Amino acid sequence: MSQIDLNQDLETVAAQLRGKYGHLDGGELLSALAKREMRGQIMITSSFGAESVVLLDLVAKADPSIPVIFLDTRRLFGETLRYQRQITELLGLEDVRIIRPESADLENLDPDDMLFTTEPDKCCHIRKVLPLDKSLQTLEKSGFKGWITGRKRFQSSSRSSVEVIEAADGFIKINPLAHWTEADIKSAFLEKNLPPHPLVADGFLSIGCMPCTERVSDGGDARSGRWSGQKKTECGIHMSRPASVSAIN
Ligand code: SF4
Repeated sequence: MSQIDLNQDLETVAAQLRGKYGHLDGGELLSALAKREMRGQIMITSSFGAESVVLLDLVAKADPSIPVIFLDTRRLFGETLRYQRQITELLGLEDVRIIRPESADLENLDPDDMLFTTEPDKCCHIRKVLPLDKSLQTLEKSGFKGWITGRKRFQSSSRSSVEVIEAADGFIKINPLAHWTEADIKSAFLEKNLPPHPLVADGFLSIGCMPCTERVSDGGDARSGRWSGQKKTECGIHMSRPASVSAIN
């Protein structure tokens, strides 16, 4: 079977990839794309959060050299930074690239680290969207066309229609867990004996920056602990990039 021409417009490529591989998910989807159709042209962004290790395990099995982009906003929990190092070693991830916000932006716009209290969108913009966009532009120029994400339909209403393969933000977004349920995630942890993020046992079910992450009450959806009490539900990362922009968890 001939390979899909990845140089066509993104919508066409996404439609053709869905036609060929849209029936797959999880590790099967990743293997098909990483070993054949998009070999050497896909990367993943990961927050090394509550469920990240499930997808990272599948990525490591498909191709441990796939670049893993980890955004250290400089407001993360120390537990997350330690967990990132633990999981990288455990899974044998060969190319974890840590990106951070520009020091000048932090000094000029958030010198006391309190911007999240007054302008959280601006805080996410300088700490997440801008550094990630810079990294994505570099990856695009290097020929990367596929962006693996851990987004799942069950996570929130804003993610309820996520497709396994879609064209968005200047990339072919690959969402191998789009149709997975909470039960599927729990089973993967158990079956593969994957270590959970240390804060999960403490009630944190979706883990981002320390000031904007709270424990989830019993029965609440996983992302309800993010920006609790605010209208904000996403950091801007997976919301269409203006022109060439885009954004991790
Ligand atoms: S999640 Fe909170 S602390 Fe982190 S960048 Fe966004 S507003 Fe700032």
